[in-house]
Amino acid sequence: MPVRPLLGLPVALAALAASAAAATPPVVVIDPGHDLRANLQTEPIGPGSTTRKIKDGGGTRGVVSGTTEAQLNLAISRRLQALLEGAGVRVVTTRTRTAGTSIGNVARAGIANRAGAALFLRIHADGATSSSARGTHTLYPALKTGWTDDIYARSLTAARIVQGELVQALGFPDRGLQERSDFTGFNWADVPAILVEVGFMTNPAEDRALATAAYRDRAARGLCRGVLRYLGRAPSAC
Ligand SMILES: [Zn+2]
Repeated sequence: MPVRPLLGLPVALAALAASAAAATPPVVVIDPGHDLRANLQTEPIGPGSTTRKIKDGGGTRGVVSGTTEAQLNLAISRRLQALLEGAGVRVVTTRTRTAGTSIGNVARAGIANRAGAALFLRIHADGATSSSARGTHTLYPALKTGWTDDIYARSLTAARIVQGELVQALGFPDRGLQERSDFTGFNWADVPAILVEVGFMTNPAEDRALATAAYRDRAARGLCRGVLRYLGRAPSAC
């Protein structure tokens, strides 16, 4: 009987390692926008930039509910985390409570980068001076060489998919996508990044809806479906 060549062992081990890597669940970093307190310190809007913006203006507030945006963002994020984990996705979050001063956007992007996120998903709600402004939109990084060229295409793809699912789930008007060159959290991201504005807390109807568990669940399900589709997985797992 011929002796089995030793070469076979490393090859088999390499194959095992490859299949283990393929089976490793992707990481999604959920970033519930804002926190209990604004952070008026400034930070560069991108690596090496001399242009600085404040870390966090604090977000908006429900015109009827009185809920802060930070609380709403966290409630949707928590529900989304449970749905994604149930679907086999690993989740890292930038905060778990609404209790402190906002860490700012360079720090938020850093969490996503260090996690090697398949997607950095930032959850926000909008505010406007006009109470009639309403609807859902999704923001993604503008193309800038050295900052976002490595994540631009994948971010745009994610924005399209997630916006579609979120609009379908919530039933709010579709305000489409918006490209932003001035978002610190995008410019510092080394992983695909998008920011959803689920609705307007300054619109009485949308604020009332988003104050309910049913609508927060709808938002989370739409986001979960969008994330899974972006990851090439079946959205029915949400
Ligand atoms: Zn916000």
